[in-house]
Amino acid sequence: MFVWRFGSLDRALLLPFLALIALVFVSPALAEKGKLRERLTPDVMAAVYPGAERLGPEEGSPPAIAVYKGDKVTAYIFSTLDIINARAYSVIPFDVIAGVELGGRITGAKVVFHREPYVYQDPVRQPQLDTFLAAEAGMPLSGGVPTLRPDYVAQSTITARLMRAAIHDTARLVLLSRVRRQSVAVPTLDVERFELKSWDELITEGSVGRGRVTSGEVAAALAKAGAVDAELDVPLGKPDDLYTEVFFGLLTPAAIGGNVLGGLRNFEDFRQRIPPGGHAIFMASTGPYDFHGTNHWWKEHGFRFDRVRIVQDGQTIGFVHEDYQKFLTSAAHGPQSQPGFQSQEEAGVFILPPNVSFDPVKPWRLELLVTTTGQNPVTVIFPFEYKLPAALILMPDEPVVAPWVEAWRDAKVNVAILAVLLAVLTAIFAFQAQLSRSRRAHRLVRNGFLLVVLVWLGWTASVQLSIVNVLNYVQAPFRGSDIGYYLVEPLMVMIAGYTLVSVVLIGRGVFCGWLCPFGALQELLAQISRPLGVPQWNPSFALEKRLWMGKYIAAAAVLVLMLAGIDGSGVSTEIEPFKTAITSKFSRAWPYLLYASALLAIGLFCERARAIEPTGKINMAECFQCLDCQVEYYDDKRCPPLVAAARSRADGKAGAAFPARRLSRMRELRTPGWRSNRRTRCAGGEPERIGSLTAC
Ligand code: SF4
Repeated sequence: MFVWRFGSLDRALLLPFLALIALVFVSPALAEKGKLRERLTPDVMAAVYPGAERLGPEEGSPPAIAVYKGDKVTAYIFSTLDIINARAYSVIPFDVIAGVELGGRITGAKVVFHREPYVYQDPVRQPQLDTFLAAEAGMPLSGGVPTLRPDYVAQSTITARLMRAAIHDTARLVLLSRVRRQSVAVPTLDVERFELKSWDELITEGSVGRGRVTSGEVAAALAKAGAVDAELDVPLGKPDDLYTEVFFGLLTPAAIGGNVLGGLRNFEDFRQRIPPGGHAIFMASTGPYDFHGTNHWWKEHGFRFDRVRIVQDGQTIGFVHEDYQKFLTSAAHGPQSQPGFQSQEEAGVFILPPNVSFDPVKPWRLELLVTTTGQNPVTVIFPFEYKLPAALILMPDEPVVAPWVEAWRDAKVNVAILAVLLAVLTAIFAFQAQLSRSRRAHRLVRNGFLLVVLVWLGWTASVQLSIVNVLNYVQAPFRGSDIGYYLVEPLMVMIAGYTLVSVVLIGRGVFCGWLCPFGALQELLAQISRPLGVPQWNPSFALEKRLWMGKYIAAAAVLVLMLAGIDGSGVSTEIEPFKTAITSKFSRAWPYLLYASALLAIGLFCERARAIEPTGKINMAECFQCLDCQVEYYDDKRCPPLVAAARSRADGKAGAAFPARRLSRMRELRTPGWRSNRRTRCAGGEPERIGSLTAC
């Protein structure tokens, strides 16, 4: 039957435990909700919506502030704190102010309050977080590929990921209550949206395609096709002379048609001519070689336009005279004040009937054909690509991926590596007796493992379980966080889970001795120091016992600081040197470096921990499962009972002093683990010191 014994470990942990329980019910310093307008400082506006003309009042549910251009609302500004009260790693709600335009794109974002332990007041990570959030500008709420990944914010991936998720979640809520948005199941052309744009703006964004061909380029193409001296309908000029410049695109959406045809009213009039399900392609050209030609007038040529065609997905779509509407241009109207569709020399629109297989949201290309005259005509082709701007394509709503799902997806490789590492550690403990029989094998395995823990787990993956993590995990359910909070950091949750199980089965030593990157650094440095002759200090057991309390006092200090709500500057996270030595890889200000280096330096002069008391009892609160004592006990040249047994055997009294059964029982009693909680005594009287160990 399991009996709980209130031992020294329990007493040592009592204070932190009680403080922990109390901490759960204490509220940390929080950001203030409401009065969003007061939080929109010039700095914030510069990040969230630079150049906003005018802001409306804070109103609506969920609350937001409208951004106006003239008398039209173009976007909304909102606070994640006011609407979803999201939390990141520290479980203290953060406040990110962001904007979203009516089409569903983020206009910008800036964090104005947070207490994330690894970012708060950090001269490196805070600017990284600001840059990461600023990169959200222009991101659509669905279907976008972020320019920066959450791991851009070094060692604060969770914070970055959760802040970004909060921006998008809040923006969706703001738009949902304010903008009637067409819901689509497949990518669909947005035919209704309209915004006034200049001809140059339409060209820049890709709504108007543009292609330019010189006489020299035509001559070169003909020469390549073997038609050097062939004749053309439109003779070539000098090599640099413009042969033709074409402008083309999809006229169907109001955002393009309304601008190309000089206003929405003109476009609406023209739209009546497009049959339901059909589309319209506009084309204009300047230069001696216009896109019309003359063949479309003649029956013997099938009324086909022979100078242009479009190609989509390998399928060629030609035009016929019947589907063409010519527009009057500057040649008829006189010079135009603005460049545009009708300021070209020729302009017109081709209607694509619904029976033509054409997908308006897919890319296509215009092919300009130049054909020689004579008996054996040769045609050369000049292709120009066209891709509709993404803003004119309505995307189906993507299922919102929970941040923790995204985190596990992104961390697949690291999760696999850590799973292997934990499997190896489990095997080490399962076969500890076999491993301990060889001092060399044990040292190789242990040092190799510690090196991987330090370099990969600590310095590369930045996984250092600390009391801050534990506090956050304990507080999370009381702050309203769900299971997703625990799962959002895959490697940390794996280490925490493994540690929890091993603490119950064996004790804290598995984590402290094998999975703590800072502990690994201490031990590896200590191993380097000894061959170099660094003097070693062996404190008396009484002093050592007092020193043991240091870590519990430090833990209690962290708790008290947070409990009293006076940890505004994040001091509590600095008591542990992990942030400096592991997650920041020593790239911090000198006071932090001094502190972490001093702690590491102490380890050069004395043992990390000595868990075997003078009585021979193993103190499990101090044992970090290094297995050194097991190696000693299996060493028949160093373990006194084994040495004595060997000597007896050599004297012809084999087994007389230490029968095999007794030796085996001794080993069982002295094996660190749950069995070691028993009080063991040396069979042969007073214990003896062997290096840092105590043996019978
Ligand atoms: S008791 Fe053994 S396993 Fe535990 S720390 Fe000491 S030497 Fe290592």
